[in-house]
Amino acid sequence: MSTPPLASGPEGPHALRPLLTTVLDALHTGGRARGGPLPAGGPDAVAARIREAVADVLPEEGDPDALRRLVHALAEGAADPAHPWCAAHLHCPPLAVAVAADLAASALNPSLDSWDQAPAASELEELVTRALAREVYGETPSGAGPHRRTAPPRGATSHDAPGPDDAPGPDHALGPDHAPAALATTGGTESNQLALLLAREALGAGVRPVCGANAHHSLPRAAWLLGLPEPVTVPAPAGTLDPAALDAALTDLPGPHLVTATAGTTDAGLIDPLPEIAAICSTHGARLHVDAAYGGGLLFSTRHRHKLAGLSAADTVTLDLHKLGWQPVAAGLLAVRDPHDLTALHHHADYLNADDDTEAGLPDLLGRSLRTTRRPDILKTAVTLATLGRTGLGALVDQVCAHAHRLADLVDAHPALELHDRPTLSTVLFRPTGADDDTVAHIRRHLLHQGHAVLGRTRLDGRLWLKATLLNPRTTPDDLAGLLKLVEGTPPP
Ligand SMILES: *Cc1c(COP(=O)(O)O)cnc(C)c1O
Repeated sequence: MSTPPLASGPEGPHALRPLLTTVLDALHTGGRARGGPLPAGGPDAVAARIREAVADVLPEEGDPDALRRLVHALAEGAADPAHPWCAAHLHCPPLAVAVAADLAASALNPSLDSWDQAPAASELEELVTRALAREVYGETPSGAGPHRRTAPPRGATSHDAPGPDDAPGPDHALGPDHAPAALATTGGTESNQLALLLAREALGAGVRPVCGANAHHSLPRAAWLLGLPEPVTVPAPAGTLDPAALDAALTDLPGPHLVTATAGTTDAGLIDPLPEIAAICSTHGARLHVDAAYGGGLLFSTRHRHKLAGLSAADTVTLDLHKLGWQPVAAGLLAVRDPHDLTALHHHADYLNADDDTEAGLPDLLGRSLRTTRRPDILKTAVTLATLGRTGLGALVDQVCAHAHRLADLVDAHPALELHDRPTLSTVLFRPTGADDDTVAHIRRHLLHQGHAVLGRTRLDGRLWLKATLLNPRTTPDDLAGLLKLVEGTPPP
């Protein structure tokens, strides 16, 4: 075999073009062979087909057809989030334009640990992350309005700072060194870890994490990883953090505290009462992190943005554009109100950011992440924001939220189905009326095994519910009705 072609360089695009045709054809044939939202037959059948397709993982001699064969097999065995009945998780169908941009990211392969590996990508990341931080904290480069020249004292909150609910104001006096910043991450888990790390560095290792019972499982894990005390759990009786219980916990427990609230719970898509929580944190001098991995996408929607009122009071905010942002994985962010917090991440490695290089003007990138080699995940996001604009992205958010309401209406009107609650975001919980938990679990597994639908499951109020997380903007009312028919038609265990 001659030396295989490379993806970049003058011959790169030429070498890629026929391979792309192969990939696109294999995606098509594989998807057609599957014929539904996921492969039929369950894990054993899928494993057998993959083993057969792979045959020999590292054969002595290579096979030029391997690209087609393996892509076909992966597509045939995929759970396709673009299928309207694939609706279990916060697993979004990525936009075609974002995936196309991601190809360029792979081909150019910039690495964001030093400027000399990513000259343009590092500047693009800086621009886009700053702009997204302004979406959270409400400062824009143009316009006029109240502004804050310096970060508020530690523990103070800024309800009066412009936020999603206020008309954002510009701040020419507010140099980039004081403007909110954001870090690109691999997702909500890494963002939450970084939020806890920044809190630990700001407040000391004695910081006590305080989370709602509805908080994401990555938070206790991050506390464990960072050697922090296990988070104190505040009750969330109706699925959202109870402010009175939070107030009591902060009164009773010695600080300093890091409170984490959730904007878009993974189970039910509920948003904690952020303004009340922010006020309580302010009273107690507690630091506030908001995990908006799911709900953060509402920032793009004029109609739903108000649900995030209070978000700008948070010291740090987790966002995840591979959820309500239609990006391929990974597209996480951690927005940070006071960029001085980020000095804790500063790190020195002479071959990447020697002092004299930095003094001579080469940007120092190591402090933007705990990772070293790092993909330019920001490119697909930048392309998406620029291609769709606020209106286009907001419309996608509005559509999936409308689908959730539609599905809730259908469940509500259905004599044999019970609805948990009206949706806040795009999650709908329901179950067959009078069914026991085993039957609910059976329905989900039956649909999975048949390859007919991917629904999630969630335990709330002591009962098991089927969960539809609607992230596909192209879903139709008929699709939703069809999904309920599948549930209804599942034979008993
Ligand atoms: C999805 C999710 C996370 C974790 O994000 P990953 O991207 O899967 O790491 C954290 N918090 C909430 C609320 C989530 O929904």
